[in-house]
Amino acid sequence: MTIQEPVRLAATLFVPSPDPAALRARLVEHVGRYAHSETTAAGDILLSSELGLSRLTLEAGGLRIAAESRDPAGLAYIKMIMADHVLEFGQAGVALHWTGAGGAGSPLPFFREMTVTAVAMVGRFLRLTLRGNDLGRFAEGGLHVRLLLPSEGVAQRWPVTGDDGRPFWPDGNPPPARVYTLRRIDVAAGEVEIDMLLHAGHHGAPGAAFAERARAGDVVGMTGPGGGDLPEAADYLFFADETGLPAVARMLAEMPAGRRVRAFVEVEDEADRQVLPSSAAAEITWLYRRDGARLELAAIAIGTGDLPPDFVVWGGMEHAARRAIYRRAIDTWNLSRDRLRLASYWRRGQAGEDHHHDD
Ligand SMILES: Cc1cc2nc3c(=O)[nH]c(=O)nc-3n(C[C@H](O)[C@H](O)[C@H](O)COP(=O)(O)OP(=O)(O)OC[C@H]3O[C@@H](n4cnc5c(N)ncnc54)[C@H](O)[C@@H]3O)c2cc1C
Repeated sequence: MTIQEPVRLAATLFVPSPDPAALRARLVEHVGRYAHSETTAAGDILLSSELGLSRLTLEAGGLRIAAESRDPAGLAYIKMIMADHVLEFGQAGVALHWTGAGGAGSPLPFFREMTVTAVAMVGRFLRLTLRGNDLGRFAEGGLHVRLLLPSEGVAQRWPVTGDDGRPFWPDGNPPPARVYTLRRIDVAAGEVEIDMLLHAGHHGAPGAAFAERARAGDVVGMTGPGGGDLPEAADYLFFADETGLPAVARMLAEMPAGRRVRAFVEVEDEADRQVLPSSAAAEITWLYRRDGARLELAAIAIGTGDLPPDFVVWGGMEHAARRAIYRRAIDTWNLSRDRLRLASYWRRGQAGEDHHHDD
């Protein structure tokens, strides 16, 4: 990662602290996992990533954090990440106040209110078409969004930027949020499509329940995008259950000719199959749970001799299956981590998004 320039938007935060050096060390330790860090001649620490740049300066009685980005959303994310970490590292009682661009009360640049315009049943999915303004940023940098799902009958008020850089919810508690994939996005038409699975344990679950009751005219909040881009390779190996299928559909639809993809998709039975158009040379293997087929068994059946020389593995599936395929990729296929994009999309028996990647 290289330090970004030119930089246009800037904001500053002073964090009072009895031990600013210790606070800075913890920030660098945590944020440095996702950002490149370097120390300047003056002793400041610079953290840079695709979001932008932050400069951490020790001052009398505290730490100054100066954030810069070319992109309003990049700046907003840096401010939020820094505030979250500062509050987590024992500064919980401190009132944080950013000055500069994207001040308190301004719209969150990574948030859109979306309106349901169509609902269709596609196998066990509810396909929602959502319409919103200014969706350009949702077409790049990742396939996934977080949907903020208002409870039935509630006229939801949406968040704005808080004084501390984090979302501020005018009514207090935020509604439940769940992560979904933009299966299709049409920026010019201001339209996205999301396939939401009505999964077996869905009764009362916020995501599936919202899908089940959705009607044209309903509104939902959307933040993102996230997930990053697929690394470049000649060959790809995809693994997905139903929750990863929308991402497989979109990646195949957007993949240029000349690439080769082998995709393994685990679904309940034949009724869940979908047509997945692609310009790439795609070979899709449908695995039916009803017959005992599993993603991890398909991965175990692939030996090193079956693999192309330069390939990337992508996967979105249940936590345990992901773990088994991750181990296979590292231990047997000897794949380096930068060639791996395997994510836990849900975890059996656990609601929400907190799936730890305990590899
Ligand atoms: C990056 C990413 C992209 C995703 N994209 C999609 C997508 O495009 N479409 C989609 O449908 N899902 C997608 N998911 C998965 C989705 O976020 C989860 O399935 C989520 O748990 C659904 O929320 P919920 O409120 O319906 O259920 P929760 O309240 O989270 O869970 C309630 C119960 O249902 C169980 N459960 C959750 N999901 C499933 C499942 N798939 N099968 C069986 N049981 C389940 C849980 O273990 C829990 O016991 C994605 C997840 C991630 C991380």
